[in-house]
Amino acid sequence: MGSKHSADYDVIAIGAGFAGLALIHYIREAGLSIKVFDKASDIGGTWTWNRYPGAASDSECYYYCLTFSKDLLQDWSWSVRYPSWDENLRYMHFVADRCNMWPHIQLNTKVVSADFEEDSGLWRIRTEAGDEYTCRYFVSGMGMISEPVIPKFKGMDRFKGPMFHSARWPAEGIDYAGKRMGIIGSGATTVQMLPVVAQTAAHVTVFQRTANFIMPAVQKPMTPEWEREIKANYDAIVSKCRNHVFGMAFDSPVGRNLADTPPEEVEKILEEHWPRGSFRFCFETFDDLLSNPESNRIVGEFVVRKMLEPVKDPATREMLTPKGYPFFAKRPPLDHGFFETFNRDNVSLVDIGHAEPIVEFTETGIRTTKQDYDFDIIVLATGFQAYTGAQEALPIRGRNGLLLRDKWEDVSSSIMGVFVAEFPNLFMVTGPQAPFANLPTSIEQNVIYIRDCIRKMEEEGHDLCLPRQDAEDAWVAHTADIHRQTLMAQGDKVHSWMMGANLEKRKPRVLIYFGGANVYYDKMRHSAESGFPEVEFKRLGAA
Ligand code: NAP
Repeated sequence: MGSKHSADYDVIAIGAGFAGLALIHYIREAGLSIKVFDKASDIGGTWTWNRYPGAASDSECYYYCLTFSKDLLQDWSWSVRYPSWDENLRYMHFVADRCNMWPHIQLNTKVVSADFEEDSGLWRIRTEAGDEYTCRYFVSGMGMISEPVIPKFKGMDRFKGPMFHSARWPAEGIDYAGKRMGIIGSGATTVQMLPVVAQTAAHVTVFQRTANFIMPAVQKPMTPEWEREIKANYDAIVSKCRNHVFGMAFDSPVGRNLADTPPEEVEKILEEHWPRGSFRFCFETFDDLLSNPESNRIVGEFVVRKMLEPVKDPATREMLTPKGYPFFAKRPPLDHGFFETFNRDNVSLVDIGHAEPIVEFTETGIRTTKQDYDFDIIVLATGFQAYTGAQEALPIRGRNGLLLRDKWEDVSSSIMGVFVAEFPNLFMVTGPQAPFANLPTSIEQNVIYIRDCIRKMEEEGHDLCLPRQDAEDAWVAHTADIHRQTLMAQGDKVHSWMMGANLEKRKPRVLIYFGGANVYYDKMRHSAESGFPEVEFKRLGAA
């Protein structure tokens, strides 16, 4: 059955992170051949690129993992609640080794184009080395926060010292001990990085444009008792993730709104949950924090009061106070000692949003409207083109040579973040207009859905999977409708990457399905069980 034209592989995927590993498992399970290319020199995706000091997952370890094998869940042991980048990498090596995935992975291979060929119904993938491969199904597993944004400041090329994006931290490391370091940006990356680099750097200056709402992480070691409890409850943990709005193993909804709770009780509940750490604070306290503006205001004020408690200097405290936008309109980072770090003599904060914007870079550092700052190293912790960046970075051409990046110029449209009209047999793992959720959960659910679609095509002898334009229009409208009703829609006021509002040359847009990851997973299941009504299946050459 299947295509009249033979391909090098049934499936080619780009990205050897969680998506690539999950694809290898599920596609191989369907009896098909798969090759995963990655430009990096190791597997790991985000964890092979983000090697900055302090880089760690913000999801707790025991649900930040793949769940397709009960044995793997039982046999791997985490050392801490939030594993560092290198522990995450070791985990991914463990999965690849144990499941014999390496023969399917080709590293150091940058894909430079992907073209759908109408005549053969195949995708042609070209690499930087000049090699070409064909496949029947092309899958983007390139990550939803992977393409760095490099800001354009005047004279950036003048700076003589090392300067790099945080997601391009030199793989061999860089000795910053005793050096003067400038960090541009104060998002989740800087919140993790600052407390670590400040311990040995001579001085660290953080250039902040917008202050964030930040919740405590509360890192802690894994204990034998905790590990035993986790491993005894893995079925329940996996089920909780599958049924949670953000794909996390939390006990929510809690069946309680802040709006209906007396103020003393509200304070008591928030106080009780704050020291527990993680995103639990948003989900295990009240159910209306992200939907009711007044509840959001109250919890936002609580967060600010609590998070700033450690900061001694009033001027710094004022600078670190988020203003003019609701809690969660920007993705809140988790704190690992960020605020205490501003009490150190070797750390300063510069408000480039209002008080002293950056004018230019110089040979020795950064000049603001008020003064010159000299550095040995500058780190651009300036974020990512989320959801669309990686797919747009290479030319992906669908029918009639249509470029995906052109199609997405104004609206980053898709069907459930998986299919795109005019791009036959292309599948995305967590593409635009998928939810923002615990990534391994969403990745695995996406990959199962993709596997089921491909399996159906194989079993029924279809060559082409043509995403329907009307289904795409409906998903875009539905996603926009939900987005409008959330407080996250105010992200365009504060450069939120969740709306692509951090990109200079692009209009903010709806990038995320906020109807609940659990609802989204149900929709994918329903779609698969109904025969994928969002797409049209055809034989090659059929009218
Ligand atoms: P980010 O949250 O987008 O923060 C980028 C920072 O750079 C912001 O402070 C931003 O200021 C600043 N910036 C960007 N362009 C600028 C410009 N032209 N001038 C001045 N300032 C500029 O990026 P991130 O910290 O790398 O985090 C991105 C996302 O990656 C996170 O939200 C999270 O989802 C993920 N992440 C996850 C983890 C984890 O799970 N452990 C760790 C790190 C990152 P504005 O706020 O004013 O735009």
